[in-house]
Formats: sequence, structure tokens, C-alpha cells
Amino acid sequence: MDCLFCRIIAGEIPSDKVYEDEDLFAFRDIDPKAPTHILVIPKKHIQSVNEIDQNNVNLISKAYLVLKKLALEEGIAESGYRIVVNTNEDGGQSVGHLHFHLLGGRSLSWPPG
Ligand code: 5GP
Ligand code: ZN
Repeated sequence: MDCLFCRIIAGEIPSDKVYEDEDLFAFRDIDPKAPTHILVIPKKHIQSVNEIDQNNVNLISKAYLVLKKLALEEGIAESGYRIVVNTNEDGGQSVGHLHFHLLGGRSLSWPPG
């Protein structure tokens, strides 16, 4: 298994886990860009948004329910937060396993650089 996030899900690489169910796994980013920086990932290996299809799209709506729940738990639901999915090189994706960044706890600038 050469995917970093698949190895984190398998417990081969330690992580600061904040949520897990049969489909999804969430853990704190090792290099946080905001006071809250959590990654929500499908347990099934999906490379990027480009690989979302009718067979796995249900995972995406489930991921948003988890993202919302985590935002509430982190106390950032009211102040605000950002959900980011980087895709491929120009999008800044560095790990080839679909992941949703949950960022909050400070004012975030827009547009991104
Ligand atoms: P991307 O740049 O692909 O959108 O996001 C990948 C994220 O994974 C980055 O924010 C990076 O800090 C995080 N990351 C990379 N390696 C690890 C790791 O081993 N553990 C954790 N918790 N996060 C990681
Ligand atoms: Zn993977």
C-alpha cells in the first residue's frame, strides 16, 4: 500500500483521529493552516474529485454531514469555516487520496493565492 492516507486509515501511520465510521475517517492535519484544520477522507481509496462517480458519490454527502458535525464540535460553526478540496497539480493536491480540509478558528482570506 503506497498511499499515505490509506496507511493512516489502517493505523500503520499514527494520526490524531477525531472521527471514524464505516465509510469515513477524520484526523487533524499534521501541519495546520488554521486553529482548526481537520482532514475528512473516505476509507475507500478515491484519488481525487475526478474519480467521483455514481458508485461513490453517496460518500460525498456523508462527508459533508461529518464536516458539519465536526465544525459544530470545534465551535466554529457560527463564526465560520471553509471546506477545501484541492485537485491535482494546479489545485495544490499533494496527497492522491480524496480529502476535505475543514479550516476555521480565524478569519480566512479570499481569494486563495
Ligand atoms: P493537499 O495539499 O493534498 O490538499 O493536502 C494534504 C494535507 O495532508 C496537507 O495539509 C498536509 O499537511 C497533510 N499531511 C501530509 N502528510 C500528513 C501526515 O502524515 N499526517 C497528517 N495528519 N497530515 C498530513
Ligand atoms: Zn488511499
